[in-house]
Amino acid sequence: MTHSFEPPVRTLMGPGPSDVSPRVLEAMSRPTIGHLDPAFIELMDEVKRLLQFAFQSENELTMPVSAPGSAGMEACFVNLVERGDTVIVAQNGVFGGRMKENVERCGATPVMVNDEWGNPVDPHKVEEALKDHPEAKLLAFVHAETSTGARSDAAALCSLAQDHDCLSIVDTVTSLGGIEVDVDGWGADAVYSGTQKCLSCAPGLSPVTFSNRARDVISSRKQPVQSWFLDMELVMGYWGEQTQRAYHHTAPVNALYGLHESLIILEEEGLDNAWKRHRRNHLALAAGFEALGLKFAVDPNYRLPQLNSVYLPAGIDDAALRQQLLAEYQLEIGAGLGPLAGKVWRVGLMGFASNEKNVLLCLAALDGTLRQQGAAIDSGQAVAAAQAIYSG
Ligand SMILES: *Cc1c(COP(=O)(O)O)cnc(C)c1O
Repeated sequence: MTHSFEPPVRTLMGPGPSDVSPRVLEAMSRPTIGHLDPAFIELMDEVKRLLQFAFQSENELTMPVSAPGSAGMEACFVNLVERGDTVIVAQNGVFGGRMKENVERCGATPVMVNDEWGNPVDPHKVEEALKDHPEAKLLAFVHAETSTGARSDAAALCSLAQDHDCLSIVDTVTSLGGIEVDVDGWGADAVYSGTQKCLSCAPGLSPVTFSNRARDVISSRKQPVQSWFLDMELVMGYWGEQTQRAYHHTAPVNALYGLHESLIILEEEGLDNAWKRHRRNHLALAAGFEALGLKFAVDPNYRLPQLNSVYLPAGIDDAALRQQLLAEYQLEIGAGLGPLAGKVWRVGLMGFASNEKNVLLCLAALDGTLRQQGAAIDSGQAVAAAQAIYSG
């Protein structure tokens, strides 16, 4: 007989998914109703309003795509990019590389602006590319690069795009709920996010929002969107403002109960307070890492509070140590990616997981395991250094 799956109870401090709030898990276990039930339509309207609040946007075309963050990324590209277009893509980590692939698969030409992994996107280089390519239709970049923990200046980049008559596509998968995302203030045109990072909801949905400029570009396309499922004009037959909602696909009903609950939690806390909490826990974790003698991969000015990349001490086996943390402390932290693979750990403090208990657990666990493995660290100071931040 095969038995029910009972997952181990972990503390998720990697690059996502993050710990899901028990309130969200409870909401997801409520009875399934029809995706056209009037009660469900009311919930959809509330989800849209709450997403507008989270994105700080009045965009009417704001909704969750029924698939993970990668689908939100794809939705932005396939709706806005047409064959023959030129798109400037800023890359400073893994996710900018995926943007490039999306552009190519749309039959368009990517113009790459590369920055070193761990650095933010350089607005000066982007400006040069915009000047060199007056034919460019779009600028795409990642606000919070989860592969490194670097934050880029979204306001400056969106305003450069506007100055050069370009639309902007912004990845806020890791930023939404953790640091300020100000879609209307930035003047961003197509913005996507995810539920499993700082919203602390289960993986599998991707909130997106499109400006009126972006909507005009979508409705005046020469060719139909090559993806039927992600074609926003079709999706809006179900998610739109009209009173008569038509079947497009069956919404993931219970997943949306979860997103609704996670957004209510964000509304209760307030955006400012959520950002402050992420920052405070980051500062405590950083003080602990410093006390251990671990060095950050990102300059303090550009560090994401929700994703902390630190270099491994010399001679430590990356995979073995993470395995030990999982086995002995039920604690998951993330490995490095690309050029940083085997060199850094990525410690997430995202959403519900950004709390004092997790900071202290992570520092105590790393202190203990690293000392056991004979690493050259300053053992015994880390927890006290973090506690000093909390009591200071
Ligand atoms: C996680 C992530 C994605 C992809 O989201 P999935 O839910 O894994 O599909 C895209 N961009 C960034 C910056 C991310 O961190």
